[in-house]
Amino acid sequence: MTFSFELFPPKTDKGMENLRDTIGHLCEFRPDYFSITYGAGGTNAGRNMDVCRMVLDAGTVPVTHFTCIGNTREEIREQLRSYLDQGVDHMLALRGDLPHGWTGTGGDFSYASDLVAFVRREFGSRFEIAVAGSPEGHIQCRSLEADIAVLKQKQDNGADYIMTQLCWDMEQFKRWLDAIRRAGITMPVDVGVMPILDQAATINMALSRNGCVMDRDLCRIISRNWIFPNPFVSDPSDAEAEDKKARFREEGMEYTIRQIDTYRTLGIGGIHLYALNKWKDVSEIIGRSGMRTRV
Ligand code: FAD
Repeated sequence: MTFSFELFPPKTDKGMENLRDTIGHLCEFRPDYFSITYGAGGTNAGRNMDVCRMVLDAGTVPVTHFTCIGNTREEIREQLRSYLDQGVDHMLALRGDLPHGWTGTGGDFSYASDLVAFVRREFGSRFEIAVAGSPEGHIQCRSLEADIAVLKQKQDNGADYIMTQLCWDMEQFKRWLDAIRRAGITMPVDVGVMPILDQAATINMALSRNGCVMDRDLCRIISRNWIFPNPFVSDPSDAEAEDKKARFREEGMEYTIRQIDTYRTLGIGGIHLYALNKWKDVSEIIGRSGMRTRV
């Protein structure tokens, strides 16, 4: 099984400095790769490349996320050439999140499957290509079946493996894994695991874009530690709220570790931890799960 992390390019120079340190700490767990997010319309393309370089400097493999948003064929060709020139030959080919108010990608391609086909045609086998999979169905899909058919198309167009959207509904994940195998999708599945550390961030992550189901266990953790009047308003002088935050983090970590245990028994290709650029919390999860030890 592979083991990997997702990072995002920080907005500030200080954040970039800290990230080098974070990558160093996470490398102690010998990850197979780090994937690095790419902002809508390539807004953070420069910093994305800087983070890829940091990962290369650390002696590990960077997988750059790359989207169709705002990109013409020529721009895609140019950017991908530049990634290859810098030694980055792994990518996650995505449609991309549509910026607020947009109805399409504003680029030459509308779907990730077209991007995969284009990259294969232009660059042959020079890139290893991952694609996104949504165990609960992408938020805009017509049906789960239609979404699985699209995933098969990505495989047929030359994709190598899948990285999944977060999914806390384990029964749904099992159904989806069975369904994609029945559909002839043989690509390995690296499961995206979102650590549960913060109440507001968890609710936001589930509902702001992805429409993810929060299972009963997770709902109970949220309810037990609900910060009144609402968890989106933070007041550090409120001792009771700070207590609840600490309890939420502890219960959330336990929940994340149980999820990892289950995923590891399902015949998946790998665990892809959304590291949120936080090496301490993530190291604690890895250590307590027994998934990897430091060497
Ligand atoms: P697609 O596979 O193109 O699917 C998009 C929708 O269109 C789906 O509903 C699908 O069913 C439908 N569809 C696809 N093809 C067709 C077709 N031919 N005809 C009709 N309908 C079709 N976003 C970013 O902007 N930056 C990132 O760095 C980033 N990282 C991500 C990392 C992971 C692991 C994942 C899972 C997602 C990430 N995303 C990122 C979010 C992703 O860009 C969004 O989920 C986006 O809305 C869909 O991308 P996709 O590649 O799954 O799109």
